[in-house]
Amino acid sequence: MQTIDNYNFGNKKALIRVDFNVPLNEKFEITDDTRMRAALPTIRKVLAGGGAVILMSHLGRPKNGPEDKFSLRHICQHLSELLNLPVKFAEDCVGTVAEQAAAALKPGEVLLLENLRFHKEEEKGDENFARQLSVLGDVWINDAFGTAHRAHASTAVIAKFFPNDKLFGYVMQGELTSVDKVMHAPERPFTAIMGGSKVSSKIDIIMNLMDKVDNLILGGGMTYTFKKALGGKVGNSICEEDKLDLALDILRIAKEKGVNLILGNEVVIADAFSQDANTRIASAMDIPDGWEGLDIAPSTREDFARVIENSKTILWNGPVGVFEIPKFAEGSKAVAEAIVRATEKGAFSLIGGGDSVAAINQFGLADKVSYVSTGGGALLEYIEGKELPGITAIRG
Ligand code: AMP
Repeated sequence: MQTIDNYNFGNKKALIRVDFNVPLNEKFEITDDTRMRAALPTIRKVLAGGGAVILMSHLGRPKNGPEDKFSLRHICQHLSELLNLPVKFAEDCVGTVAEQAAAALKPGEVLLLENLRFHKEEEKGDENFARQLSVLGDVWINDAFGTAHRAHASTAVIAKFFPNDKLFGYVMQGELTSVDKVMHAPERPFTAIMGGSKVSSKIDIIMNLMDKVDNLILGGGMTYTFKKALGGKVGNSICEEDKLDLALDILRIAKEKGVNLILGNEVVIADAFSQDANTRIASAMDIPDGWEGLDIAPSTREDFARVIENSKTILWNGPVGVFEIPKFAEGSKAVAEAIVRATEKGAFSLIGGGDSVAAINQFGLADKVSYVSTGGGALLEYIEGKELPGITAIRG
């Protein structure tokens, strides 16, 4: 199979779909360049192989055509510093401007195209727009995992114009290797820890994991829907009244499939959703009115940690408490620390999907787990078992 490692880039122009959707402040300074740094190995590989690089990305959500605040021009200088090379900029991603800039590009040079989303055809997956992009390069590389779940022109539709010259970049390769290891070839025991606020937003993932995991730890706000369904009193805790039957179904299915489903027994309850709240430890089945469960209690942290530490594959999605408020971050921190200990003992750990990534970064433990996904929505859809257009476009 053709890969970025065995492809001959000599004298080729590589059109690389990257995710440079970085946060900018009001002075157009980049406040977090993680996504740009992530793309460097792919860019360097093409240059080292004697090719030229044409980068295309979206930035923000422009509504009606070009808007200066969403111009990729703002990131050109920083990219040049990261690569230690001059980076050329094309004022448009298609048409004469882009075509002339691409044609003039020599091996070893880098060109950044203007925001793809200045053309509404990008998000519509317009075939003609994809063709216009495709004429710029000889080979297409998709390295934007964050948009792999979208069938946009540059992320998927363009593939048909490169039937023999389409590749994953290193970001995509890394994400796929990690998530495939977890979802398709997990060493056992395999434990998934699911948190977050609502069971309704996690239902597809929970159901898909049910056929794969040995242990399923459920924490965070969704705990209370389960406890209420089991006849508990949840006070003012977040609870989806219309999902009580669903919660019972999940418990029944887990039993039928032999999955060890673990819900926290004890929680930290608070009389307000704030750092200044009064707190107590309570049974998650017996929370007084006026109080709400906002974190797992120390005894539950130990219960969760025991299971996590005995696992060989771990997937963590969603904090088990309101980690944004320091008083209720301890449970999520204990989960993160248990994952780190398991990883030190040889487990493979994948952290992914929005808030658990923010949590592991907040605890400074991101480099002590096996893989932290950059994917967000794309990762979640992959775990749900959905086909991602950006992956299918290349894998077929
Ligand atoms: P989600 O986007 O569904 O993964 O939810 C993440 C959010 O769930 C975070 O902002 C957490 O603060 C929140 N969360 C976690 N535990 C609780 C809880 N016990 N009560 C309310 N919100 C929670």
